[in-house]
Amino acid sequence: AAEKAPATASGGTRRVLLFPLPFQGHLNPMLQLADVLHARGLRVTVFHAAFNAPDRVAGYHFVPVGAGVPTADLVPTGSNADFAGALLRINERLQGPFEDSLREVLQEEEDHEGARPACLVLDSNLRSMQVVADRLGVPTLVLRTGGAACLVAYMAFPALCDKGLLPPQDHSQLNLPLDDLPPLRLQDMVFSTTTPHETMTTCLERIVESAKCSSGVILNTFNDLEGVELRKIIDGVGVPVYAIGPLYKISSGVKSSLLSSDQTCLDWLDKQEAKSVLFVSFGSLASMDQEELVETAWGLANSRMPFLWVIRPDAVHGSGNVGLPDGFEEETQGTGMVVSWAPQQDVLGHQAIGGFWTHNGWNSTLESICEGVPMICRPHFADQMINARYVEEVWKVGFELEGKLERGNIERGIRKLLCEEGGEMRRRADDLKDKATRCIKKGGSSQTMVDLLVNCIMSLPS
Ligand code: UDP
Repeated sequence: AAEKAPATASGGTRRVLLFPLPFQGHLNPMLQLADVLHARGLRVTVFHAAFNAPDRVAGYHFVPVGAGVPTADLVPTGSNADFAGALLRINERLQGPFEDSLREVLQEEEDHEGARPACLVLDSNLRSMQVVADRLGVPTLVLRTGGAACLVAYMAFPALCDKGLLPPQDHSQLNLPLDDLPPLRLQDMVFSTTTPHETMTTCLERIVESAKCSSGVILNTFNDLEGVELRKIIDGVGVPVYAIGPLYKISSGVKSSLLSSDQTCLDWLDKQEAKSVLFVSFGSLASMDQEELVETAWGLANSRMPFLWVIRPDAVHGSGNVGLPDGFEEETQGTGMVVSWAPQQDVLGHQAIGGFWTHNGWNSTLESICEGVPMICRPHFADQMINARYVEEVWKVGFELEGKLERGNIERGIRKLLCEEGGEMRRRADDLKDKATRCIKKGGSSQTMVDLLVNCIMSLPS
């Protein structure tokens, strides 16, 4: 059982403020962290953007920020989204409203609880909010929702620019291995081809700055998975580093989906053979064009393997309508299921799942590893290329589906994962699953780090 945080001098427990980035892959880990801290007896206030607002969790205090600010250009869309540009705009637009909200909350807290909140835990993409907190004297901790390898790569970005390697001058350079960041290549550091280089530089600079200017960095990873990278971060940021993942396993299963999950797919999975089904999902933002959708559909059908495929309502860019090809449903009746949003962690943990075709968002990658499921990797943008590279080259629990998204290529990839090389990859994934299970037990690395984190929060001056 979790130990409770001791009470403050005034008799109440301390309050912690949190501010997630308003995207699914960021909301999930932050609310899981909230759950972990709440279970230790801390009171929780969640600031959140008024758009993409999370469902309210009983017992927490929620404060919407920036109601009425224009949001059309704050949500990145498309297969190669300008995520960095959207992040800078979010910072700019929410900073003023956040300052007003934070002042109000601080005043209320002082009136009612007689103590200031212990700290603000921010998504590391919200540097402008950290500046506000600094100004108002609120200590900050930073949550990195990506892997440790990703933060190491972001820290190395300026040096690669100084060496003249970034942005790449021509196509032939892309394959260049980066000696200081094995197994990454130059191309893995091109996070989006639609974001101007200056925007990317500013965005990454701010992420690293947010870590260095904080009282500690929290990462959703674990020591046995990314020990080498974690040590590089410890050396580089100069503040305490807490690797407390996998957060979804440590928290008690708080639900923070922006879309409602189709639970019927779990009943369908109950009827499938063990380790037979391919789960196909590309997270909450990545999308494809209509032609790629058609190729994916026929690749799945032609593989003759059972599949569960998530097609979000906005999964196809350039059209409001998702059109599965004629004949596809008849062809795959009984062997395949399509849903618009799945309870992904339950799906990956289901005994019927044999593999995961993923875009390698960090949460998806981590969930797959922690459930012992090998992967077909098809990264789109941001840190996804880095994650895919680690899956293939470091953990060896999957491989990248390269080249054009074309039905023959897809069919071969699926058969390779489920029929040919999947066994070895699954054994390695099972080994990582064991390690993930151990690190969250009493005395395990992540559980120990949670204790240290709670101690750190409790000892911040009130
Ligand atoms: N997810 C889900 N149902 C789905 C697809 C995704 O619950 O059908 C969850 C998934 O479990 C993960 C998050 O959405 O926790 C996606 O985060 P990730 O970092 O993988 O990708 P992003 O959406 O940020 O690109």
